[in-house]
Amino acid sequence: MRELLRFNGTLPDPRDTPGFKGDKGKARREAAALAPEMAELQEMLFANGRVGGRKRLLLVLQGMDASGKDGTVKHIVSQVNPAGARITSFGTPTKEELAHDFLWRITNALPSPGQIGVFNRSHYEDVLVVRVHNLVPRAVWGRRYARINAFEKRLVTSGCAVVKVYLHLSKQEQRQRLLERVEEPTKHWKVGPADLLDRRRWEDYQQAYEVALTRCSSDLAPWFVVPADRKWYRDWAVSHLVLKTLREMDLSWPTPAGVNLAAMKKELLAEP
Ligand code: AMP
Ligand code: MG
Repeated sequence: MRELLRFNGTLPDPRDTPGFKGDKGKARREAAALAPEMAELQEMLFANGRVGGRKRLLLVLQGMDASGKDGTVKHIVSQVNPAGARITSFGTPTKEELAHDFLWRITNALPSPGQIGVFNRSHYEDVLVVRVHNLVPRAVWGRRYARINAFEKRLVTSGCAVVKVYLHLSKQEQRQRLLERVEEPTKHWKVGPADLLDRRRWEDYQQAYEVALTRCSSDLAPWFVVPADRKWYRDWAVSHLVLKTLREMDLSWPTPAGVNLAAMKKELLAEP
């Protein structure tokens, strides 16, 4: 499954469901069935963090407006203990953020040991929106791919598993979803002035994504492309990617140093 989703140089059909056969109901049931193991591994990760372990996990979500980043955050985080999760959404940089290097706000938002961090948008915006809209000179964003690779390599080698997911939406499906937002008062708050400006530059974004995915995929921190036109497939696929990564983190239940369990048991049992 995971190999099917790994970016291999070309983008799939956004309506595809790689690795899955069946309907929405089956996908929802299968994703729900993964939840207990996900919760247990997350607790184990958290427990390791409490006793000095360095392991942590970072899920990076990228995708066009309405590609389902918020929905994916909700789906993943609803399956874990919120105490062990750190969610950060990256919007237009503040004045303070702009005064720093582009990785400054990213570094500040990284998960602590034991945590699962979720990035709703990320450092990749600095080679996506910034590139498409020429927000800094080409020479500046051009150097960022290598900076991102070095940054992610440091993360992974220091014990932070990195799962990068591009939610690949079709232009038609975005139209549908933006229309729903416009027509539905409870969704008006999701509409932003940038939405149409970005939509008009659709092809440029697709190209910017292809370049970012190509230049910033490594064995240490590969990109995964999740076709995102079907929400139930998106949730199913991201659940699998996160769970598979947690499984490979070689976690076990820790015992803190300096605790004598036998002595503790003896004393407790000896109480009158
Ligand atoms: P939303 O995810 O709908 O809340 O929108 C966040 C907005 O912030 C999007 O329009 C992004 O393009 C924009 N954004 C995020 N990161 C950056 C960045 N580094 N530079 C400029 N705009 C950004
Ligand atoms: Mg938006």
